[in-house]
Amino acid sequence: MYMMKCPRDEEFTEGRLIPYGNIELSPGACVLNYGQGLYEGLKARRTEDGRIVIFRPDQNALRMKMGAERMCMPAPSVDQFVDAVKQTVIANKRWIPPPGKGTLYIRPLLLGSGPLLGPGPAPEFTFLIYTTPVCIYCFKETSTGLNLYVDDQFHRASPGGAGNVKSITNYAPVFKPMKKAKSEGFTDVLYLDSSSSKYVEEVSVSNIFIVKDKTISTPATSGTILAGVTRNSIIEIACDLGFKVEERKIPVEELLEADEAFCTGTASGVAPVASITYQGKRVEYKTTNINSVSGKLLSTYDAIVNGQLKYKNTGWLVEIN
Ligand SMILES: *Cc1c(COP(=O)(O)O)cnc(C)c1O
Repeated sequence: MYMMKCPRDEEFTEGRLIPYGNIELSPGACVLNYGQGLYEGLKARRTEDGRIVIFRPDQNALRMKMGAERMCMPAPSVDQFVDAVKQTVIANKRWIPPPGKGTLYIRPLLLGSGPLLGPGPAPEFTFLIYTTPVCIYCFKETSTGLNLYVDDQFHRASPGGAGNVKSITNYAPVFKPMKKAKSEGFTDVLYLDSSSSKYVEEVSVSNIFIVKDKTISTPATSGTILAGVTRNSIIEIACDLGFKVEERKIPVEELLEADEAFCTGTASGVAPVASITYQGKRVEYKTTNINSVSGKLLSTYDAIVNGQLKYKNTGWLVEIN
């Protein structure tokens, strides 16, 4: 794993690879007491022609910088972040599954690791990266479609909060609604806005899109939604494929009348939604087939991230030597 430390009011300078293992923290560590921490998630893949590639790591670096600013932490520069990711992937090369079998999931963390008794930014920060192989079938609902439960009681984020950054504080509060939904047979929870409970926001760790008459819509990132790298990439890919894409407020009723719905995120890629349940009413969608809009986006996205389709020479796919 990769580790780099930095005192408060200074900048990250140099990190190093160390054997994977437990880390030592003071019981007074800011991250343990006050939740000062951010995470990121990206994947390394082996291509059919023997390369190792990562999808848009600079975007994760930029998002971590933005989140660090919100949480009063110093962040590694984009170059430091991307270089650290590459070093960690190379060190874990033997754990990258063969093409088509799975990916190496990469988990960067930025933590307020120094101790502090009163609430406030930590005196020391730690940036670290660990990895783990994940198999394609870990997300089995991706192929059969997600069954989402619309929760109008619990909310994920509120205006002025930290819902738009990958703060570790956003995740434990969704365990309860998620656990309840799973126990009732759903895949995940779809959250509504906390002010009116009328508009669709996102799923626990993925963004949502709907399709109606070939127009694709997704909730605008107005502060309570996490701007996914996959979301952003899908918007660009969809525009290039000639679809009309709208980022706006989406009333939950519109979701129920859509032709298709799908979720996006690094972990699950483009995942078609099979059903949505809202206030006791269950709506089913046509799941992916070659001719569906989500099917087209899914196959294009997969071909890009797997290195089969070179996308407009954008440099989206970073190769590791
Ligand atoms: C990480 C995350 C996403 C998806 O972001 P990607 O960059 O596409 O992986 C969406 N919503 C939330 C709440 C997330 O934490």
